[in-house]
Amino acid sequence: MKAFFDARQAAHDPKHFMANGALSPNPEQPERITRLHAGALAAGCVFETPLDAGLGPIAALHSPQYLAFLQTIYTRWSRIPGAGAEVIPNIHPANRSDSYPLSAVGQAGYHQADTACPITAQTYSAAYWSAQSAISGADYLAETGRAAYALARPPGHHAFGDMAGGFCFLNNAAIAAERLRTQGFRPAILDVDVHHGNGTQGLFYERADVLTVSLHADPARFYPFFWGHAQERGQGAGLGYNLNLPLPRGTADTDYLKTLEKAFQAIEAFGCTALVVALGLDAHIEDPFQGLAITTAGFSQIGAAIAGLALPTLFVQEGGYLSDALGDNLASTLTGFARV
Ligand code: ZN
Repeated sequence: MKAFFDARQAAHDPKHFMANGALSPNPEQPERITRLHAGALAAGCVFETPLDAGLGPIAALHSPQYLAFLQTIYTRWSRIPGAGAEVIPNIHPANRSDSYPLSAVGQAGYHQADTACPITAQTYSAAYWSAQSAISGADYLAETGRAAYALARPPGHHAFGDMAGGFCFLNNAAIAAERLRTQGFRPAILDVDVHHGNGTQGLFYERADVLTVSLHADPARFYPFFWGHAQERGQGAGLGYNLNLPLPRGTADTDYLKTLEKAFQAIEAFGCTALVVALGLDAHIEDPFQGLAITTAGFSQIGAAIAGLALPTLFVQEGGYLSDALGDNLASTLTGFARV
């Protein structure tokens, strides 16, 4: 399988992370790339560096105000006397419609949903090339009809049109789906990350031309908490074009695969002609986030089940954090897919 990755994606190396009020190392480390790259190679992937398709395909979904923020905020933040080494908000608007301040601190609160998306000097460039990897994957799929894998890191599915969150800055899978749509496809996004793809849902919530489906740990007691519930089905023209399939904590292979069938029914009924899989591997039983209990062999079954849809498929990397199984889980998914 063809795979896409650019070395500049590794330069984003955030340090700060806060969970339950306690500080700890940021789990979204460049080391993930090393392990995912090894896993992709083990599955027979052949890597290419992405072409630079420019800002257009990114700006198709992300607002100019937000992109300017990502491009400039680190420099502006660094001028604040005594500022920390990373851009991390300490105040948020009560409503997203609240006024837009000039202050770097105020804008950080506006554009960063939580403290899990610290911005460093290299963040914009890394996120830009992560998105380009997804775009090149979409273009390869469009040209050849063949499957591809984008080692998209930093990940993307928690990023909204004007808001970062949960390690994500630019929504790589959504950008790839929109790219495919403009090339005449009817794309669906299937998000198998353990966390709900809230940014992806938000980007397409009022649209009927891209179907969004997410399987994830029930957000009643799991990040991102405020999105991902079953009753969120889309709005306006998009009503019925968003499907959330929350799962009880600890759900394992058999029940997961049963639920995946519901996702497939929706994708087939949509008349999908190209599938973007938001491939989080953090549903694994040994992942530090401990949401679901998928085994490495289970990922192979998930890959094979996805292949059963017989759709041109682009895998876009999402979560999946450091455990000894991370690379194996990617290899298992992609080989399971390729076997069918
Ligand atoms: Zn995740």
